[in-house]
Amino acid sequence: MEVVGYILVGRAGPSGLSCGYYLALAGFNVEVYENKNMPGGMVSGAIPSFRLTNNDFQEDIDRILETGVNIHYNQNIDKKRFSEFRDQSDYIYIATGAPNTRKFNIEGINTKGVLDPLDFLFKTKNNQNFKLGKNIIIIGGGNTAMDTTRTVYRLADNDTNISILYRRTIEQMPADMGEIKAVLEEGIKIQELVLPISVNNEDGKIRSLTCVRMKLEGLDAAGRPKPVEIENSEFEVFCDMLIPAIGQDPKIDFVDPKLLKIEQGTYETKIPGVYIGGDALRGASTAINAIGDGRKIAVQIIKKAGVNFEIDLPQQREKADHRQLMINRMKKVSAVKVNEIPLKERKSFSLVTQTLSNAKAKKESSRCLKCDELCNTCVTVCPNLALYQYNVNPVQLELTKIVIINGQHEVVTDTIFPIFQSPQILHIVDWCNECGNCTTFCPTSGSPYLDKPHLYLNKEAFEKDDDCYFLDNNGSNPILLYRKDGHFMQFEETEMEFVFSHDQSEIRLTKSDFEIKEFKLDGTLEEIDLRKAAEMRVILEGAESLLKSQASNTEYKSQLKNENYSPFVKGARGIQKTPGFLFQVFENDTKGYFQF
Ligand code: SF4
Ligand code: SF4
Repeated sequence: MEVVGYILVGRAGPSGLSCGYYLALAGFNVEVYENKNMPGGMVSGAIPSFRLTNNDFQEDIDRILETGVNIHYNQNIDKKRFSEFRDQSDYIYIATGAPNTRKFNIEGINTKGVLDPLDFLFKTKNNQNFKLGKNIIIIGGGNTAMDTTRTVYRLADNDTNISILYRRTIEQMPADMGEIKAVLEEGIKIQELVLPISVNNEDGKIRSLTCVRMKLEGLDAAGRPKPVEIENSEFEVFCDMLIPAIGQDPKIDFVDPKLLKIEQGTYETKIPGVYIGGDALRGASTAINAIGDGRKIAVQIIKKAGVNFEIDLPQQREKADHRQLMINRMKKVSAVKVNEIPLKERKSFSLVTQTLSNAKAKKESSRCLKCDELCNTCVTVCPNLALYQYNVNPVQLELTKIVIINGQHEVVTDTIFPIFQSPQILHIVDWCNECGNCTTFCPTSGSPYLDKPHLYLNKEAFEKDDDCYFLDNNGSNPILLYRKDGHFMQFEETEMEFVFSHDQSEIRLTKSDFEIKEFKLDGTLEEIDLRKAAEMRVILEGAESLLKSQASNTEYKSQLKNENYSPFVKGARGIQKTPGFLFQVFENDTKGYFQF
């Protein structure tokens, strides 16, 4: 095969090998530089064999090597070497992972009996022996802490006390739920809300830890419940071995870190042709994220090199029918049973979770609810029917804008306005009591009642609020109104065209491709783009669909039939309940209470 470019990959971990694999298939000459004497990075070196067997791993490596990827082992990369690499290659992928254990900087930590978790996992996997203590403590809540604990359990004598200390609760542990469950099943204690503050030594060897108890109070910068120390809660825990596994960090000392910043949406650094991804970019994460980054970087390099090669993605699945998707989410289908070796056999390094058969794997994957196609969770959990789902045709509108050129208003090309998903959601403000249920259940951490376009059914309430819509009409055509900072915009659909207007301006657009047919601008306006108009085109479709649905949907019908009805009086979406609709519901019921 003709070589189409030279790519150099720093380290043969999952991300580097994934990138190298696709680029080798595309015809690149791929040279990988690995600082250990084996490929696979953390996956082969640190993941214990009771979770992943060497055979399974080796099959993947063999497949990658067959494509022509060339791995150089025991290689260190320093500044000089990196500069040579830049001269020799067209592209470089820095995939050096996050191999540095984060230091747990408490008093007395540098003492005998304190082990590095990665060193422990690598050496154990390499059949090196450790003399273990009788009271062993692991600190941390991530997957490395769980792997370390389960490895200790397998190596330690039966009468050894093993426990994990974690400063938050089990619920907040970043480790996979399956790993936490396995730790607990294997009889290891997890002490929640405990933070060690110093290591106490005796004769130069660890004797105990001084710890404090924590409580959760408020939220931290990442939005997680914040652990706060409880005053006067100090206590001592005896131990003769400590393994702090509180995280891992990348180690890249051959390039100025400032040059490794990437543009959003790309993996290319400030050095042209040099890419970074996987744990080296995002910090310690999952192997699947690292593999995904490697593939995406390969796609970017293939495109940049102008190579005609399409990465074969898994077969595109057929688009499912929306009705069927809704039916699927109403059915409870239990997970396929995964076979695990019994607890009495767990004091060994045999694979615990057995691989699913082909048929079972297919059955399990068929439970997928395809929420990337239709989520709708917020619609189904809203007790007030205040979120409405409608469908539009996915489209990519090529927008233009009007600017001043040489003192004249001219139409120039602007941007693409894409609608990728057919299902869209409207927030019907009149019916929302801001209970926050939709936020609680949104699987993508959205706040639908705050994020989605706000549509009013009551014009008076609409005119008192901001950043909101109202569907009006002029007798023959529907008109969507938008109010922002006391100004109104309107979007009208006539039989032949769309008319977008605000203040003194009016723009007429073709219905087929949203092109500007003619415009009349307020003289003070220097520039106007069509992004709001495109958004209003979609929301108009939703608002009309909602009103039409009253004819066929009895629940909406009952809420919509009273034109003046608005159950809540609102101001800037701060809610004040009035005994409107909910009181009527109460009155019509046979049994119930109502609180004013
Ligand atoms: S916050 Fe509003 S939209 Fe969300 S569930 Fe509650 S009532 Fe419905
Ligand atoms: S806002 Fe959240 S819950 Fe609603 S459809 Fe989107 S992802 Fe689903």
